[in-house]
Amino acid sequence: MTVPILELYPAYEELRDEIDAAMLRVAESGWYIGGPEVEAFEEAYAHYCGAGHCVGVGNGLDALHLALRALGVGPGDEVIVASNSYIATLLAVSMTGATPVLVEPDAATHNLDPSRIEAAITGRTKALLPTHLYGQPADLDPMLDIARRHGLRLVEDAAQAHGARYKGRRVGSHGDAVAWSFYPSKNLGAMGDAGAVTTNDRELATRVRMLGNYGSSTRYVNEVKGVNSRLDPLQAAILRVKLSRLDEWNGRRRAVASTYTAELAATGLALPFVPNWADPVWHLYVVQAPDRDELQARLDGKVQTQIHYRIPPHLQGAYSELGFTPGSFPVAERLANRVLSLPIGPHLSQADVDLVIRAITRRSSP
Ligand SMILES: *Cc1c(COP(=O)(O)O)cnc(C)c1O
Repeated sequence: MTVPILELYPAYEELRDEIDAAMLRVAESGWYIGGPEVEAFEEAYAHYCGAGHCVGVGNGLDALHLALRALGVGPGDEVIVASNSYIATLLAVSMTGATPVLVEPDAATHNLDPSRIEAAITGRTKALLPTHLYGQPADLDPMLDIARRHGLRLVEDAAQAHGARYKGRRVGSHGDAVAWSFYPSKNLGAMGDAGAVTTNDRELATRVRMLGNYGSSTRYVNEVKGVNSRLDPLQAAILRVKLSRLDEWNGRRRAVASTYTAELAATGLALPFVPNWADPVWHLYVVQAPDRDELQARLDGKVQTQIHYRIPPHLQGAYSELGFTPGSFPVAERLANRVLSLPIGPHLSQADVDLVIRAITRRSSP
């Protein structure tokens, strides 16, 4: 028996009656695009995040892309992203026609290192786009300060950070716009693709909605070349059910993380570092090991693990145009060679947590 890295079905099982009722309600409502379910979720999620506005879109990549476009990012511009982020963060920048500019993360937090940002700013820089990687907020205050001083916009990739707090306040309205994914495996996950942008700027929200609706705010009047990226009412109805459990489920993730942190302290693995101003939501529990591949092979068959992410974006074929080589971003490369994600989730049993700990701490098992 292998402990799976993640299981999605138990989330449905726990909420079956409510989710079935929500899906049926949409089927019977006759509203299959937009409408009351989408509006109700947008209102609930904005309220949850402490943001003035929430605009549902088709997925997290579109949320990033539309937030950037709505802020005026386009061809010729540069956007600063972390060199160890998920490829979607860069792709969203490329979709606007702008160029992603990579800046190394802080090796302890895995998040964009504020002290390295200013050296990367040029006359073309338009925005900063930090990722709250693994569910831990990036250090936003110094970034907000840099953005203010250089006249830049701040967009956050919060696809892994639903419910996370920075200095006590939930992620969702620190920057100009915050992009969310509700991909099924995220802390708040739909049963298909879904995403959203939150912001305190009413005009920006209107612009994101217009861009995601064919560039139109009045039917058959198209102001700009938009795209089709809207939150599906079925997903909105399901998400509203799951939002009511988000804090509880994040709490269960936190409990698993504390157990790992206590029980793995003596293993020599580098465990996640949490700054005192961060309240992470443990989308992933990522350890570092110099012999990562051997550790993964040793756990194989007992514990399923994953690597987020094995190839940093600058060494991906998709970004060969940037002309980077191994050694271009040593912090990101070192992390890519050392990180290993352990199973974590709201439905991981105590028995499974114990199995993971035993498999790691017992160097040789039969
Ligand atoms: C999941 C994810 C995305 C993309 O979300 P999709 O809904 O799959 O498009 C973007 N950025 C990060 C950091 C993610 O984890």
